[in-house]
Formats: sequence, structure tokens, C-alpha cells
Amino acid sequence: MSKNIPVKIYLNEDEMPKFWYNVRADMKEKHAPFIHPGTLKPCVASDLYPVFCKELVDQELNQTDQKIPIPDGILDFYKMFRPSPLIRAYSLEKVLGTPAEIYYKFEGNNTSGSHKLNSAAAQAYYAKQEGLTSLTTETGAGQWGTALSMACAFYGIDLTIYMVKISSEQKPYRKIVMETYGASVIPSPSMKTKAGQKILAENPTTGGSLGCAISEALEQALTTENCRYVLGSVLDHVILHQSVVGLECKIAMDKYGITPDIIIGCAGGGSNLGGIISPFMGDRLNGKNNITFIAVEPASCPSLTRGKFVYDFGDTARTTPLIKMYTLGNGFIPSANHAGGLRYHGMSPIISKLYDDGFIQARACIQNDVFDAAKIFIKSEGILPAPESTHAIKVAIDEALKCKETGEKKTILFGLTGTGYFDLMAYAQHNSGEMTDHVPTDDELNVGFSSIVPFDIKL
Ligand SMILES: *Cc1c(COP(=O)(O)O)cnc(C)c1O
Repeated sequence: MSKNIPVKIYLNEDEMPKFWYNVRADMKEKHAPFIHPGTLKPCVASDLYPVFCKELVDQELNQTDQKIPIPDGILDFYKMFRPSPLIRAYSLEKVLGTPAEIYYKFEGNNTSGSHKLNSAAAQAYYAKQEGLTSLTTETGAGQWGTALSMACAFYGIDLTIYMVKISSEQKPYRKIVMETYGASVIPSPSMKTKAGQKILAENPTTGGSLGCAISEALEQALTTENCRYVLGSVLDHVILHQSVVGLECKIAMDKYGITPDIIIGCAGGGSNLGGIISPFMGDRLNGKNNITFIAVEPASCPSLTRGKFVYDFGDTARTTPLIKMYTLGNGFIPSANHAGGLRYHGMSPIISKLYDDGFIQARACIQNDVFDAAKIFIKSEGILPAPESTHAIKVAIDEALKCKETGEKKTILFGLTGTGYFDLMAYAQHNSGEMTDHVPTDDELNVGFSSIVPFDIKL
């Protein structure tokens, strides 16, 4: 076992990864391709170029190159907020009285407060290189919108963000941060797009959903000159960019001879989980380790643990290509009392495939339990985590307590994806005992499943 491990393991600038790692290159079986909903044939690059930046489409479809160089223009921005620290949770271990070693990779040390900046930086950079003048996107809890507004400000690109209406009301300060960086923020559904008008006509009081904000952002990108749409999770190129998190963990751990037994990440669209596990999963797929990978999702939006592994649209207005993924149905909307992010109806195709093939486990937790776990973490480690991150904390603590029972000295790594300063209303609810939980019934889930169109796709 490793000795003398500092509380914070930092890398020097020259130790930082110069490449992203593309886990698909090491997957013996690739995930199913995107399907064009009109032709029911696999999407080719030219189907995607009108929507996404060219370089990102090429990365999206690249299943063979293991290493993708990080351009200097992105490295320069990364160096302003990376490497992020890998922290040994000595205090938490002590409070739990566990023989386990617990490490977490803290991605909250930038103004956006999350790992999302890793992909935002790359996406804004490529858009600028391509000569685009504006981008559109959606944001739910607000971290992605904040990260992208920082990146667009840095590279000099205009940005319109469709923010899920209920989040924009719950988190007015998020909106102000985005606007301060120069982005224009529109609560969704809005009257600005046909998709928004339609959703409002059907359901005038809706608080919105990520699926419907995506529809609006897509529509604006497709109808605006020199503009493309960008997405902060789910897609393969986003996981590629997030692999910088796992690569830094691996370099830092190798330096001290630490080998994780369990790696845990919260799972919304799957980008932080995909990023932190990527290089370790690559080794696992090549028979070099036997790490247990655990995805943690909210019980109120249980795409992996209770969803269907089928082709579905990525958005509510059904404008995206069909994606084979674990999904609750494009029409699924999580109950209003759900506090944090992690509310997307689908899951990254890479994570879905690895889960279906048995390489990843999944657990669903209720929010009162994850906030209870967060309180233990806050009091011992000092960091106030994002509600999303608390899901990973909960399972890390569970696993550490199992070690306490069995006496096993496992090494646990989890992703602490961000800080929760904009989520204080959720903490206030938990502090006052007013936080409620809603676990959807099978009947409620069936409403979402009924929005899945049963296409007859033959590959
Ligand atoms: C967006 C976000 C997540 C969830 O998204 P993934 O794509 O699943 O990683 C988790 N934590 C934080 C702090 C986030 O901002």
C-alpha cells in the first residue's frame, strides 16, 4: 500500500495530459450508431455538419484513434484552471472510521464551478477556428451555460443559452453570471422558437425540461447564419474532452503507486463519469485491471436503473438523430421537487453500452440520502458540493462503510464534479427538513416510455 500521500496531489504544468483519450478505440464492441430519423440509416458526417462544428463531428465519429492531441489554444485555457487537485479524503476517512482510502478529483475550482468547462473550452475553441460567429446551447441547472459563457467570452464568440425555466427561476444568480460573461439567456420554453411556442401551447405552465431547451437551441442554430449548436454532455466528443479528468487522476495516482479498486461518478448525461473512468476503463477493457465502476443517478430520474436501452430522440421536439441509449423517453419530465441537475431523460451512448455490457454498475439514490451524505462530507472535507456531486459522495461513503464492516482496505476514487453555491435553496430545504423525495411509479415511467417511437431500425 502507498505511503506518505499528500492531502492534495497536484500535477506540474509539464505533467498535464497533451492528449485526450478516446475510450471507444479500446471498446471491442462499439456502441450503435446515430440513426437519421428520416432515412433510418446511420448518420454520416454530412448529416451532422449543419448542426455541430466540423471538428466536433469528426471527433464524434472517430472510433479508432486512441489519442487525440489537445491543441495548444485549448491547453493555454486549460492551464488557467487545470490541473485540478486529486484530494485524499483523510478527514472523511477518519470520521467514517473506515480502513478504505478515499480520493476525490475536485473539478469545482473554476468560476463555472464544475467539470463542464473542460468541454466548453474545446467546443468554443473549435467554433472560433472554424470561423463561426455564434453558438447556441441549453442549460438545466446552469453549470454548462456558465462554463460555455466563460469559454465563449475567452475565445470571442456570441452565445445564446436556453435555460430550463424552472432552473432560471430557482437560480437567478446563475443567469446573472452567464450574462456577465456576455451570453444572452432565455428561459425555456420561450416564444422565440417554433418548438417553444408548440410546447407552451400544449402546456402553458410547464417549468420546462432539458429536452425542450435542446429543441429550442437546435432550432435557433439551424436558422441562424454562421451559428452552430453545442451540447455539454451525452455525446462522445464531450466524454473525449472530459477524459482529461481521468487522465490527470491516472498520472497523479501512478506517481504515488495508488491503484483504485472502485471508481464512482454521478451520472446525468454521463460526461463526468465517462471522463473520469475513460483511461481506467481502457485498461480494464484490455484486461489490465479489475476496477469496479459505479454510476450514481437520482431515483427521480433513473435512466440506467429503470430506463430502456433503445433508440430514442435526444430532445422533446424529436429533432435530433436517434440515439441508442438508456432512456426514460424523450417526453419524460422529472418531478418538480427534484433539486439538482441529473435530470436528462437519456444517457451517453458510451456509458449505456458499457453498462449494458456489464462493465459499469449503476445505483439510484433519493435526494434526502445524498444530502445527508453531503453533510458528512461538508463537515469533514470542508467543500460545499453541487447536488449532482453528492450522489457520488453518497455511494463513496456507502462503499467506505462496507469496508469498515469487512475490514477490507479498498481504494475508492470519486468525482467531485462541482460546488453548490448556486444550489443553496436545495440545502435550505434539506436544512429545514422540508426536502421531499419522489420516486416515480412504474405507471409514471410508462408515460415517459410512451414517448419513445418504436422505429424499425435494421443495422
Ligand atoms: C452537469 C453536471 C453533472 C452531470 O452531468 P454529466 O454529464 O453526467 O457529468 C454533474 N455534476 C455537475 C457539477 C454538473 O455540473
